[in-house]
Amino acid sequence: SNDVLGRTEGGDLRLVGLTKRYGSFTAVDDLDLTVPQGSFFALLGASGCGKTTTLRMVSGLEEPTIGQIFLGDEDVTDRKPYRRPVNTVFQNYALFPHLDIYENVAFGLRRRGRKDVRKPVEEMLDLVELGHLAKRKPNQLSGGQQQRIALARALINQPQVLLLDEPLGALDLKLRRQMQIELKRIQLEVGLTFVHVTHDQEEAMTMADTIAVMNAGRIEQMGSPAELYENPRTTFVANFLGQSNLIPGTVEGVTGETATISAHGQRLTLDAARCPVTSGPVILGVRPEKVQIALSAEEVPAGSNQLAGGVVLDTSFIGVSTQYLVKLPSGEEISVFEQNTGREIQRPGAEVVVFWDPSQGFGLEGGQDIEAG
Ligand code: ATP
Repeated sequence: SNDVLGRTEGGDLRLVGLTKRYGSFTAVDDLDLTVPQGSFFALLGASGCGKTTTLRMVSGLEEPTIGQIFLGDEDVTDRKPYRRPVNTVFQNYALFPHLDIYENVAFGLRRRGRKDVRKPVEEMLDLVELGHLAKRKPNQLSGGQQQRIALARALINQPQVLLLDEPLGALDLKLRRQMQIELKRIQLEVGLTFVHVTHDQEEAMTMADTIAVMNAGRIEQMGSPAELYENPRTTFVANFLGQSNLIPGTVEGVTGETATISAHGQRLTLDAARCPVTSGPVILGVRPEKVQIALSAEEVPAGSNQLAGGVVLDTSFIGVSTQYLVKLPSGEEISVFEQNTGREIQRPGAEVVVFWDPSQGFGLEGGQDIEAG
């Protein structure tokens, strides 16, 4: 059902109640997840959150304690690894050192007894743009080139799903950026489902259509990079994807489309649709690049959320932006990223007002009820 560049009829990858326990420790906790066919999906989370264990269950290297794995309509939970239409690309490439690049790529086909491998091997080498290196041995390639060969070697098996376990982890930053773009191009070209495991939020956001943020064996939130960034639903997600200012407060009331929140004795507002509660404790979040600084309250546009009495603690000029850390009278610190447009840079010690457009904020459950102390 696959053509050479792998346009498959495999269907979605579906994990149902997938759980893995090691003794009394639960590494993967009741995961329900659908990865649409043909998507570039990232499992993102800190070390130890269960990403690799999830991947190993999908590939069949690890047996689930409970739960099922479906590919399309088919339950593959009990199938041996080599009986699953799934291949994995690992961080350490795992190329055969004694075989040249051509034979490394041809390996999967030869093992299945295929004689005429030239056309598919050449196609795969073209896909990863390394046809000119076919006669070299793996140790004569750079890390990035070895990773591309590992990819070609996996794709030639025409899997329905390609699993990538921190595949770029061994590369330096610049090469990693190049390979992120390259992997995205290849995924678009072959149209296969890619499930990519990483702890690097920028990498996940660069490549994936959909990201599942994992924490302690569970999925905290799933969505497009923009959805997760604009509307994080938990403090974990708000802090894991980019930076957030998180201001604890209390919802005083909701009128029409506006929720009113008191925080630090000041009155702030938030779109009601983005406020998870109608009363009581809440956390008001706002990204540093949405916050601006003014030298006085008179400069602040009407209708803004503003926190007066700030003092600049730190100023970092980083080319495209200037990043400020501003200390509020409450002791709390607010991060502000201001695009560099030639405006005067404020030095530590400057007295400022921080403000933002209320539509740029988001609300999270939690926080402290400052009325109740
Ligand atoms: P990393 O990015 O460091 O690989 P991860 O998110 O992929 O982390 P896993 O490798 O899936 O995490 O591990 C999840 C948890 O399960 C970890 O706390 C790990 O110590 C534990 N674990 C994994 N394999 C075993 C095992 N065979 N026996 C006991 N505990 C294990």
